[in-house]
Amino acid sequence: SASSPVFNFPVPEEYVSRTPPYSKLVSNLNKVNQIFNHQPLTLAEKILYSHLVDPEESLAAANGSTANIRGEQYLKLNPDRVAMQDASAQMALLQFMTCGMASTAVPASIHCDHLIVGKDGAEEDLVKSIATNKEVFDFLQSCGEKYGIQFWGPGSGIIHQIVLENFSVPGLMMLGTDSHTPNAGGLGAIAIGVGGADAVDALTGTPWELKAPKILGVKLTGQLSGWSSPKDVITKLAGILTVRGGTGYIVEYFGEGVQTLSCTGMATICNMGAEIGATTSTFPYQDAHRRYLVETNRAPIAEAADAVNKQVGFLQADKGAEYDKVVEINLSDLEPHVNGPFTPDLSTPISQFGAVAQKEGWPSTVSAGLIGSCTNSSYQDMSRAVSIIKQAEAVGLKPKIPFFVTPGSEQIRATIERDGLIDTFEKNGAIVLANACGPCIGQWDRTDVPKTSTETNAIFTSFNRNFRARNDGNRNTMNFLTSPDMVTAMIYSGDVNYNPITDSIKLENGEEFKFQPPQGEELPSHGFIKGREQFYPEASPKPKPEVSVNVSPESDRLQLLEPFLPWSGEELSTNVLLKVEGKCTTDHISAAGAWLKYKGHLENISYNTLIGAVNKETGEVNKAYDLNGDSYSIPELMIKWKEEARPWVVVAEHNYGEGSAREHAALSPKFLGGSIILVKSFARIHETNLKKQGMLPLTFADEADYDKISSGDLLTTVDLKDMIAKNGNNGGVLTVKVTKKDGSTFDILCKHTMSKDQVDFFKAGSAINHIGNLKRA
Ligand code: SF4
Repeated sequence: SASSPVFNFPVPEEYVSRTPPYSKLVSNLNKVNQIFNHQPLTLAEKILYSHLVDPEESLAAANGSTANIRGEQYLKLNPDRVAMQDASAQMALLQFMTCGMASTAVPASIHCDHLIVGKDGAEEDLVKSIATNKEVFDFLQSCGEKYGIQFWGPGSGIIHQIVLENFSVPGLMMLGTDSHTPNAGGLGAIAIGVGGADAVDALTGTPWELKAPKILGVKLTGQLSGWSSPKDVITKLAGILTVRGGTGYIVEYFGEGVQTLSCTGMATICNMGAEIGATTSTFPYQDAHRRYLVETNRAPIAEAADAVNKQVGFLQADKGAEYDKVVEINLSDLEPHVNGPFTPDLSTPISQFGAVAQKEGWPSTVSAGLIGSCTNSSYQDMSRAVSIIKQAEAVGLKPKIPFFVTPGSEQIRATIERDGLIDTFEKNGAIVLANACGPCIGQWDRTDVPKTSTETNAIFTSFNRNFRARNDGNRNTMNFLTSPDMVTAMIYSGDVNYNPITDSIKLENGEEFKFQPPQGEELPSHGFIKGREQFYPEASPKPKPEVSVNVSPESDRLQLLEPFLPWSGEELSTNVLLKVEGKCTTDHISAAGAWLKYKGHLENISYNTLIGAVNKETGEVNKAYDLNGDSYSIPELMIKWKEEARPWVVVAEHNYGEGSAREHAALSPKFLGGSIILVKSFARIHETNLKKQGMLPLTFADEADYDKISSGDLLTTVDLKDMIAKNGNNGGVLTVKVTKKDGSTFDILCKHTMSKDQVDFFKAGSAINHIGNLKRA
């Protein structure tokens, strides 16, 4: 055991490393309170500002009011922990390795989940996926051993579920190299999805920078009942706020309705906050949090949270705290919602879904149902789904469509197996997949509908994201996001007009059968069990410098990184390679699915750059035109221009880079010779990722200028050097001269949001170059 200022009683060391440094945070918060003249703070501000490296410096412009900070100032933060999933961890660790450190500055974990295929069932799929990805898993494992990072191997579970079960704690601040990292906010943490280069900041102990978010309060009143579930809170909210509504905000839930939710239900809500573009989401400390901490074998941490909350109210918003915006949802009136297709904010109440489907020409039948994933695989979710299946089983009703279940972790899988839930799933035709992402990330080796099918088909899932080709690689598969309850009921009908709340299904004997609302248990009455030991890493691994991390020069999966060249010191002169039309998510910029296997090989994965983008001028997907009119695939033209030393710019519309924390969406354009991305607006993580890779992200001051620019135009910055000399000034306006192919010119104004640190990244060629320079100095 070890003693710590957090605990005034002896506890095992592993609890100390998994508990936020509450004493230090409270002392920092005291300083913050003085700076704001004791103005009431929201919970999100308390957690975030107590993690400031130097509150006096970051809050210097406060002038006694949080309004001068929110949305205005950059914060320099010290996160407590980092989590990385296998696909993004490769690049994060390749970047970390270039910094030459012997161990990580904060506790960190690696989770092998994205590279596991879902097809026949857990056992078969896992064996095949381990064989296919051995080189990558070995690389990650050796990095874990060398640097003292906990390594959760293939089959152990999905990053966010493992983090919730083991690492998320009220008041914690963590970074994760995955956009659904905010899932941990369900247990009162501030958990932010970032690219690998941001993770390297935390891993190297370099202050991590974030523009202070505004705070969006969601007031929950009433109580869920019947068919309504936590998933419906967030699918409804996504409909209200849209995919851009949370950009620049932390979403903080409050109101008496919060007390009626389970911890895992809150995690589902926070998880999908990513779908509205929020920086993260969080909940105030509740009895449900205490219950979950105790059940997941963390009673000492619950004691510490209780104590710090009782003493100084650290884990609650102050009375009178002000939100920049408030949305109210009455849980008592909440109807189940179904969101999609192709965008998570197209939200339809179940009672209207059939009519809307008919009007929109969506398929009239559902082709498959999938539940689980990091979003919805809690004990409560699974037990409610089983309560529906048991009702069907009792009357001899059989599923009409394929049904897949993805447990989020070995702990969940083993517990639901012990309690007979897996048996019920399997006896009723479900395929239980490995504890991994599988069909949620394009790793669904689907056999009933070919990838190339040109006919649309509809699937119902309890997942969180539904961009084209996201699940089975088929652009015509429409993924409708909903609760596990709705998915499970739907497998017995398969008809989009079916509403289990009001409709019945005809049985073989001609009788009509109507489901009763699902019933579930918040937590297993006999406690959780760990399951198979082989899936658990050492609790507190120590770095082993003697371990060598091998990357073969022959490998097509892994490639050591070459530093990007520093800025030349001159204005940028770039040709427009592509003008993108409409939605351009990180899935469009750096596709997943089959490409996931190249995540550790920058050159190979770069062949996927923007292959999903639509050319505004021709309507074609993955087509760009050289200055002489010759056509190429988009990455081919990038490679050609790189060889010709012709820097390029991509021009696009709103919320560019929406979706995930995928830093390859920034790394690959930089690797292929891009220097500017000019858009109507950015998704937050992607804009930061571009800056981290030394790219210049700009937005049109006047959106109408988008229409004036064509591919092939030459864009030259006029006052970049001046902006750099001023260290970015935390944002401002740049003038860009546009030269058309006929030689005519005009100037446009573009906005930037560069801070001093980001200017340093730009000058050095990338953030990693800059950190490496600092560490070597
Ligand atoms: Fe995995 Fe899907 Fe969750 Fe991402 S959203 S971590 S792909 S299960």
